[in-house]
Amino acid sequence: MTRLFGTNGVRGVVNQDMNPDLALDLGRAIGTYYARRKEKPFIAMGTDARISNHMLKSACTSGLLSVGCNVEDLGILPTPALQYAVKEKDYDAGVIITASHNPPQFNGIKVVDLDGTELSKEQEEEIEDIYFSKSFRIVSWDKVGQLSAWDGAGELYIKGILSKVDTEAIRKANLHVVLDCGNGAGAVVTPELLRRLGCKLTEVNCELDGFFRGRPSEPVPENLGELMERVREVGADLGVAQDGDADRAIFIDEKGNYIFGDQSFSLLARYIIRGRKGIVVTPVSTSSSLEEVVTREGGKVIYTRVGSPIVARVMKEVKAVFGGEENGGLIFPEHQYCRDSAMTIAKMLELLAKEEKSLSELISELPRYELVKTKITCPNDRKEDVLRRIKDVVSSQQDVRKIDDTDGVKIYLEDGWVLVRPSGTEPIFRIFAESKDRGKAEELADSYKRLVEDMVSTS
Ligand code: MG
Repeated sequence: MTRLFGTNGVRGVVNQDMNPDLALDLGRAIGTYYARRKEKPFIAMGTDARISNHMLKSACTSGLLSVGCNVEDLGILPTPALQYAVKEKDYDAGVIITASHNPPQFNGIKVVDLDGTELSKEQEEEIEDIYFSKSFRIVSWDKVGQLSAWDGAGELYIKGILSKVDTEAIRKANLHVVLDCGNGAGAVVTPELLRRLGCKLTEVNCELDGFFRGRPSEPVPENLGELMERVREVGADLGVAQDGDADRAIFIDEKGNYIFGDQSFSLLARYIIRGRKGIVVTPVSTSSSLEEVVTREGGKVIYTRVGSPIVARVMKEVKAVFGGEENGGLIFPEHQYCRDSAMTIAKMLELLAKEEKSLSELISELPRYELVKTKITCPNDRKEDVLRRIKDVVSSQQDVRKIDDTDGVKIYLEDGWVLVRPSGTEPIFRIFAESKDRGKAEELADSYKRLVEDMVSTS
């Protein structure tokens, strides 16, 4: 069966694959699924700032109402703010219309469970079954759901974050922050949060704009030139950029340098683990700098398959104190089990207030690793065979220290590691190679790329 849900909900180009018909039937399927647990499910609905948000929200809401769910419209919100509202209030689930960092022509639909976490694969498959078989619940005219609206979710979310950081220390530090929301949903709450934390605020792209006119939504270095420039210009203590649905945050140091997500992750992990120990959870693709930092402080890293819902679930199971991904998506369990950029920003401000060093100094204290990424095309139906043969070959290699097959195959060598991972969405293998030495990382990436190419061409 064709999969509907990808790694992050259902996504597509608006009015091509992501159209009102799909949103309507998906609304019916989601509602039918929740109606198996409860006669009249109460569903929270939110969107990011894309121009197709009303079209898809209306269709999806109609589907939910038609199968007997009550729906509450929370308006434009960051994804984590909707998740927080679902967790804190009496909703049975939440739906957010968003395509995160994708270009403006995309949109998507993501479902969160009653505790605010993203659905498991099994739950998504059950909804897919209902969708493809069109076995929607049918209710009589008097059981059709009702629509309400609530505009308090942003305030609830801001208060939730303020209650989990040392606001007094942050206010005393008087930090100057340049915030770049990328015209995305973060603009609804993040400037207000920073003002309440007593920060001096310089705003870049903090107006909602469904065309993302300020910059492309993905917070990668090539998209943050303006932010880096502004940090230097105004002499700020730091800069921060969010993606379109504000679950990820990327930082800029006071000199205007881009800080990669694995570095801010390591820095916050050190701060959280220090003197407390505990477990940090992350996918196998994350830099070894995290493990080095966490182990040094007496903590432990547990690796998972790639995907933030998996990280969140494992964090819950092992009672981790922190977790996240190398792309700036970090999870604070005392707040909620999902990636949350505003919480990440507040925690980073607390760290800066307490450590009394500049962000660039703090980053320079971390171990440095070089990561090289590459990819190779491989038809989806041959991936399994290719992967099995790669495992066979590497298990007999002399220089291999350890093999981890949590997700694809991760090969630990004397001076680095290589991860060969089949993409869940595209007909490719992704290859990550990491070492402390740039040349060595490139050499590893090249040699394993050749190995995988051989396997693909001979399979
Ligand atoms: Mg996102």
